[in-house]
Amino acid sequence: MDLSKLDVMYVHGIGPKRAELIKKEMDVHTAEQLLNYFPYKHVDRSRIYAIREIDGSMPFIQLKGKIRSYAMQGENKGRRLVALFSDETGTIELVWFKKPDFIMKTYKVNTEYIVFGRPSVFGDRINIAHPEIELYNPQTLKMHGFQPFYNTSERLKRSYINSKFIQSAIYSLLQSQTEKIPETLPEYLVQKERLMDYDLAIRMIHFPSSPDMLRKAEYRIKFEELFYVQLQILRYMYERKRAIQGFVFSTVGECFNRFYAEHLPFELTNAQKKVIKEIRGDMRSGKHMNRLLQGDVGSGKTLVALMTMLIAIDNGFQACIMAPTEILANQHYETMTSLLKGMDVRVELLTGSTRKSQREPLLQDLKEGKIHILVGTHALIEDPVVFYNLGFVIIDEQHRFGVEQRSKLWKKNVRAPHVLVMTATPIPRTLAMTLYGDLDVSIIDELPPGRKPVKTLHFYENQRANLYASIRKQIQQGRQVYIVYPLIQENEKMDYKNLEDGYEQIQKIFPEYKVCMVHGKMKNADKDAEMQRFAAGEAHIMVATTVIEVGVNVPNASVMVIESSERFGLAQLHQLRGRVGRGAEQSYCILLTSHKLSTTSRSRIELMTQTNDGFEIAEADLRLRGPGDMEGTQQSGIAFDLKMASITRDSQILQYTRTKAEEILDQDPDLSNPENLILLKQLRKLARDKISWGFIS
Ligand code: ADP
Ligand code: MG
Repeated sequence: MDLSKLDVMYVHGIGPKRAELIKKEMDVHTAEQLLNYFPYKHVDRSRIYAIREIDGSMPFIQLKGKIRSYAMQGENKGRRLVALFSDETGTIELVWFKKPDFIMKTYKVNTEYIVFGRPSVFGDRINIAHPEIELYNPQTLKMHGFQPFYNTSERLKRSYINSKFIQSAIYSLLQSQTEKIPETLPEYLVQKERLMDYDLAIRMIHFPSSPDMLRKAEYRIKFEELFYVQLQILRYMYERKRAIQGFVFSTVGECFNRFYAEHLPFELTNAQKKVIKEIRGDMRSGKHMNRLLQGDVGSGKTLVALMTMLIAIDNGFQACIMAPTEILANQHYETMTSLLKGMDVRVELLTGSTRKSQREPLLQDLKEGKIHILVGTHALIEDPVVFYNLGFVIIDEQHRFGVEQRSKLWKKNVRAPHVLVMTATPIPRTLAMTLYGDLDVSIIDELPPGRKPVKTLHFYENQRANLYASIRKQIQQGRQVYIVYPLIQENEKMDYKNLEDGYEQIQKIFPEYKVCMVHGKMKNADKDAEMQRFAAGEAHIMVATTVIEVGVNVPNASVMVIESSERFGLAQLHQLRGRVGRGAEQSYCILLTSHKLSTTSRSRIELMTQTNDGFEIAEADLRLRGPGDMEGTQQSGIAFDLKMASITRDSQILQYTRTKAEEILDQDPDLSNPENLILLKQLRKLARDKISWGFIS
C-alpha cells in the first residue's frame, strides 16, 4: 500500500469529518504525512514515582494514588479547585483553575488513579496544576512506555482531536502496516552510516522502546532531511556551473586604478578590500558569478558596488545597478556621479519618472555603448532597455525583487552577466555558508571607522512626556527624527488609524516644527516628495511605516522612535535602526512598548538594547523563530520543510551530510547508478511536497 496515496480520512478512527479538520489545521492530507507528523516530546510513563521522591527539578512524571478531598480556595482570578492527593509515601495538591464542578464529578474521591504532570514545589508544598488523570489499570499502564505528545490547535481540540487522538490514529496506522514502510535512502548509505532503517525509525519516533532507540531514530530522520537539502542544493549548483560560462574580466585597468588613486575619499576598510578581491576573483575566473554580498547597514556596500563596476568598464563592458525604490536609485546616482567627477565614466539614471524626452536619447546611447553605468529601478528590466554589452549587474537590497524579475536581466546579453546581489538583511554565517550552496557569499563584517554606535533605549508608553522633551532638544540642536508605526496586513485598518492619529498628535505636540508622513498607500510621487522634504531638511520629523526600512540615507536624522516596537521582528527592528547613526552625531533608537510584554518580545527588545551587531541579531532571530520563518531566508526564496532537524541545533549533521552528498555526486554526478535511483525519486517527491527551491537565479 502506497501510503502517500492513502487519504488520511481512511486511517482507522479518523473518517471524513475529522479528516477535513486535520487537513486544514495540521496540513496533513495523506497517511504518509500523518506518519511524518512527529511528536514534539515524549514523556516517560514507564515508571511510577513515589510522592516522597519529588523534588523541584522534575519533568513530567506520573504518580499513583487517591484523591482524599476537594476544596475551593482563593479569590477572583486566583480562585481554584484544590485536591489533596496521596500515595503511601506522602501528599501533594492537585490544582485546577477551570471547571471545578466537572472535575469533582469526573474524578472520585478514594479511587485509585494515575496522575500525570509536572510538579512545582513551594517551600514544603508540592502541587501539580491541571494534571492529566486516568483510572489506574495495570494493563494499559504497561502499554504506555514513552508517550508521544503532538501539537494540536484549539479548533482541533474542540473536535476532540487532541494529542491522545493523534497518538491512537498513528498507532493503529502503524499496526496496520504489516509490511515494512519502504526505505527512502540508498541501502548502501544506510549501511555505511549505520543508520536505523526507515521503517523502524518511523515507528520509534512515535513509540520508542527506549530513550536510546528514540535518539537513533531522531538521528536517522534528521540525517535524511538534511542530506536531501544538501543534495538538492549541490545538484543545483553543479548544473548551473556546467551550464553557464561567465564573461572573463581579465584586467584591472585605468578606470579602477585612477579611481583608487585619485578619487577614493577615504581608506577602504579591510572588509571592503577583502570582498572586492573576492569579486575580482570570480570575474576573472571564467565562471559565471552569482554572489551575495552581505553587509550590515552602513557598512559601505555602495563603494564596493562602484569599484567593481569600474572593473567591468575596464574590460569593455557596461554595468548597471538596480535599486528597489526611486529614492534609492536617485541616491546611488548622486553618490556615484559625485565620486566619479572628473573621470571619463558616464553614469545615467533611469527610473519610472524619467521623462520620455530624456528617455529616448538615453536608451539610444545605452545601445551604442556610450553609457558605462546605468543606475535605476525596475525600469531597467523593461524590454526597451537594450545594452551594448552588459557584463555586470548589481541588485541592491535583493529582497524587493522577485526571481522572475532578476531572470529578465540575465537575458540582456548573449551570456548571463555577472551578478552581485547586495543585502543588509543579515543572514547568519552558518546558514549562509551551508545553505546558499549555489550562491557564493561575501561578507562585510566591519563598519567604517569613527561611527558612533546607535544607543538603543527601551521606553514604556507612560514615559512619552520625557521622550518628547528629549526629541525637542535634539531638534533644537539641528537634528531630525523618525517616528515609525507598525503596519501589518491583518490589522491594516487599525494600524493606519494609529498612524494618522500619531501624525496629528505629533503635529500638535510640536507645532513649531514641520512634520511629514510617508506610508505604503500613498502615490509614489507623493511619497518621494515627502521623503525629499525630509532628506533636504525641510521637515524635522518624519512619521512613517516601515516603507523607510530600505536604504534611505539622511545622515542628519539622529533619532528613531519605534512605536509598539514589540510588534516588530528582530530583523526588522535592526533594519529600521540602521536609518540612524549615519552622521557624526550620537544617534538614538527608542523602542516604545506597552507594559504588557510576552517573554519573547521582552527578550527581543533586550537584545536590541544590548547589541548593534546584525549577525548576532540574526543568530538570535534564528534561535527564536527557526529558519523557515526568518525574513532573510524567506526573502531569498528558500523554504525549508524540515520537520525534525534544525539548521542551528543540528549544524554538525548539516555539515556532515554535505560531505556525504558531495561524495555521492562526485562518483555519480547524474545519479544514474541503479542504487542511486532512489535519490532521484526522493528529490522529485520532496519537490512535489512543496519544498520551494526558488533560488536567486
Ligand atoms: P550600505 O552598506 O548600508 O549601503 P553605504 O554604502 O551607504 O552603506 O555607506 C554608508 C556611509 O559610509 C556612506 O556615507 C559612505 O560614504 C561611508 N563609507 C563607506 N565606506 C567607507 C570607508 N571605507 N570609510 C569611511 N566611510 C565610508
Ligand atoms: Mg545601501
